[in-house]
Amino acid sequence: MARLTDPITILKGIGPAKAKQFANLNIFTLRDLICHFPRGYEDRTSLVPIEKLEPDKPACFRAMVMNTPRTAHIRKGLDLTRVQVADHSARLTLTFFNSKYVSEQLQYGKEYIFYGAVSGDFIGYNMTNPTFEALDSAPVTTRRILPVYPLTAGLSNAAMLRAVRQALAVCDPPAEILPEEVREKYGILPAERAYTAIHEPSSMAEAELAKKRLIFEEFFVFSAGLALMRTARAEKKAEPYGKTDLEAFYKVLPFSLTGAQRRAVEEILADFRKGAPMNRLVQGDVGSGKTMVAAAAAYCTVINGKQAALMAPTEILAEQHYASLGRLLSRLDIRTELLTGSMTPKEKKLVRERIASGEAQLIVGTHALLTDATQFSDLGLVITDEQHRFGVGQRAKLSAKGKDPHLLVMSATPIPRTLALLMYGDLEVSILDELPPGREAVDTFLVGESYRPRINAFIRKQVAEGHQCFVVCPAVEENEELGIKAATVWAETLQQTVFPDLRIALLHGQMKGAEKEAAMAAFARGEADVMVATTVIEVGVDVPNATLMVIEDADRFGLSQLHQLRGRVGRGAAKSYCILTSRNKNTETLQRLKALCKTTDGFKIAEEDLKLRGPGDFFGSRQSGLPAFRVADLSFDLATLKEAQQASSEWIDAYGASDLPEAKALRERIGDLFQRAEGTMN
Ligand code: ADP
Ligand code: MG
Repeated sequence: MARLTDPITILKGIGPAKAKQFANLNIFTLRDLICHFPRGYEDRTSLVPIEKLEPDKPACFRAMVMNTPRTAHIRKGLDLTRVQVADHSARLTLTFFNSKYVSEQLQYGKEYIFYGAVSGDFIGYNMTNPTFEALDSAPVTTRRILPVYPLTAGLSNAAMLRAVRQALAVCDPPAEILPEEVREKYGILPAERAYTAIHEPSSMAEAELAKKRLIFEEFFVFSAGLALMRTARAEKKAEPYGKTDLEAFYKVLPFSLTGAQRRAVEEILADFRKGAPMNRLVQGDVGSGKTMVAAAAAYCTVINGKQAALMAPTEILAEQHYASLGRLLSRLDIRTELLTGSMTPKEKKLVRERIASGEAQLIVGTHALLTDATQFSDLGLVITDEQHRFGVGQRAKLSAKGKDPHLLVMSATPIPRTLALLMYGDLEVSILDELPPGREAVDTFLVGESYRPRINAFIRKQVAEGHQCFVVCPAVEENEELGIKAATVWAETLQQTVFPDLRIALLHGQMKGAEKEAAMAAFARGEADVMVATTVIEVGVDVPNATLMVIEDADRFGLSQLHQLRGRVGRGAAKSYCILTSRNKNTETLQRLKALCKTTDGFKIAEEDLKLRGPGDFFGSRQSGLPAFRVADLSFDLATLKEAQQASSEWIDAYGASDLPEAKALRERIGDLFQRAEGTMN
């Protein structure tokens, strides 16, 4: 018997080359293979007489080969093989393109099971490239419900199917984690049956049951994990802060806080006065001023003799927070330090020494904060900015650097309630539902290619008025995906042929950290008129003089992402604009984009986005900090989510500390999952 952790290369037919193709799908072990679930099924159970085949509806039929297949060489690279087949009802001509093996495999006078669709023409029925199997072979692609797998180049569905089947034959599926009581109450299949049936269902109904079990299981593991974290945290203690008077801080602020900011700060101070670690999410639309709320919390922590750490998802953002918070807090004699991955080893070492000694009071940084080398003297507060970019595990890792520090997470992406429950089920929430005074909504337009001259003229106009523009492209380089605008190429085109007299800058994720910073800083100083960029500018970056954002091929982005990008303009006093271009004529796509032109309410946009794209794509690729659910789809499986959440809290009460094999297996799965959620950042 093999183990789930064994590599797939122990299977027949999977050598190093094949293994690479599987690796493209993140399949390395037998477990990965068994957990590579079909995205759908084709019901090929029933056989149809040839006469009853309907055009363009693929079906299975049994037929005899009536002649020796003949191959004609049409031209270079095109061979056609034709063969006649028949059953009791009719005859049919099969045509295969470039399939030289067909003439060896299909033998005159023998019967086979075929699967394909006929196309009708005036001579009679014809069928191209059907799959077929000998009558006496075990059904693999015919006479069954065929799972349809997510695939990658070079890997066929049949190959995937064979591999999965082998894996299921040589090892047991993942262990049962749901006690029988829970399975009975919620009508859930046992693990063993579900893992087999999802790949080889005997009926469509069984496939559905298997899917339900696996969705339930995913949600169950995740919510049980959160519940365990919550329970563990409820037992923790924190020394209440003695000083919570922020007058001095308010005095150095260049503006007064909005009502919403004040409320959030008050909620935080109340947490600080309690004897337990704070766990608070500050959620507010782009530009609502979350940074100042974080600054207030950091200030309060420092005057109570402790350190505060602020972790940002990108270097650019960390830099910017460091610059603005450092300047502000230095007026209160607070020492702010920056720690990012692209600093030299020597710089990092020096900063880390000051962090360890306690000299550094507020530390702003990226993931570099998480490494073992970073040790704090007395970490009292952990802040994560743009929380949706981080995994639950990363949040926990930074917290572990202190002794039960307070936790403040900030997110600009308004998260639909269902997702919020999952991601932040263990947090209190403060909402910034008010923008600083004087902000006007960003006017947003959707245009086609025919508007190009007008877009260019508009860019010119903004620049002539002393403002700056962002142009965002969906790709970095031309060849990434055919036909979509690439930042490097587009920057070149604009500079060479459209705006030879303007200063065009370029910013994308493949540039080195230092280059990115330099480009962004230069743009912020007004040293370029137009910044052509990819979504690296999506989070947080503040250039108040930028008044126009053009988003090329906007149909390539999610609505929430577009909303987030749009938040990069409209941050100063001048009226700002966002132009979405799309060459996609699909009505649904255009409607989706038009919705964005009409509303600036981030929550509405988020709900819409979740409905349209599902959570996997919700924040762009794999950045949700949520584990990648394999089967579950948060936008559709809400009922199951609710059941699983209920079941998991019942489970914690009944089995949280139990020694049952199911309980042990569940705790193991939770550990794995949270580690994986953490891994999705990289
Ligand atoms: P976000 O919530 O998107 O992180 P920021 O904290 O970056 O927003 O704030 C956006 C801009 O608004 C910054 O330039 C900040 O200085 C400014 N700002 C924040 N709070 C106020 C306020 N109460 N009054 C005026 N401007 C403010
Ligand atoms: Mg921000």
